[in-house]
Amino acid sequence: MQPDPVEGKPLVDIRGLHKSFGDLEVLKGIDLQVHPGEVVCVIGPSGSGKSTLLRCVNLLETPTAGTVRIGELEVTDPDVDIDKVRRHVGMVFQQFNLFPHLSVLRNCTIAQDKVLGRRGEEADRVARANLARVNLDDKMDEFPAKLSGGQQQRVAIARALSMDPELMLFDEPTSALDPELVGDVLTVMRRLAEEGMTMLVVTHEMAFAREVASRVVFMDDGTIVEQGTPDQVIGAPQEERTREFLRRVL
Ligand code: ADP
Ligand code: MG
Repeated sequence: MQPDPVEGKPLVDIRGLHKSFGDLEVLKGIDLQVHPGEVVCVIGPSGSGKSTLLRCVNLLETPTAGTVRIGELEVTDPDVDIDKVRRHVGMVFQQFNLFPHLSVLRNCTIAQDKVLGRRGEEADRVARANLARVNLDDKMDEFPAKLSGGQQQRVAIARALSMDPELMLFDEPTSALDPELVGDVLTVMRRLAEEGMTMLVVTHEMAFAREVASRVVFMDDGTIVEQGTPDQVIGAPQEERTREFLRRVL
């Protein structure tokens, strides 16, 4: 089942994407488009290739075959400028990976300095504005170890936003959090979605996917088995593999 075609040019255009690690074929031909302002949630069992898919979009992994485009940028061109890719794409991981020896504010300015050449007052201003967006402007002088996991993850989101990305990738951003801290992170992500950020989100939070996603993609064993609106894929799945997965997680 295919969703209604969305008008206009996709921001992310993935075609025939394959990725192998040695003999293990992890992505077996993925075709996926994400249009500006869309929130696409990727669901599926552990080991189905969801993280590898995201990592191929920002070149943390090199695809074995196929093409990935982000706007005008051909990510899979062997001569692509990786810094340029990273400037366009923000990524938030399950593990927050903050620099422990840097304050919250510095965590949000260091990449601006190194990648964009934006420093001093201007970088601070951007960082503060994004920390306010994740409700942490009162924590900018703290060090990460003083913050809860949920607060650290929100700093990681502010850090990514401080690069002015066109696209945000989230790989199970709430999976490492204590249950009572998940809500604050999802609230921030929901707000980003409402502001029109284009987002590709791997998540096990079915309620979030159901409410926020413009489209849900179900992956299994390196392929997209089914995609559509949340009501279609989560509410009325057509494929047995999707039904079986949802029975286990819902
Ligand atoms: P998911 O995020 O859906 O759980 P992953 O993309 O992390 O799945 O992994 C898919 C498969 O690829 C798994 O079998 C995993 O062990 C394998 N894999 C992922 N990264 C590597 C790697 N760097 N080297 C070898 N195998 C990998
Ligand atoms: Mg994963």
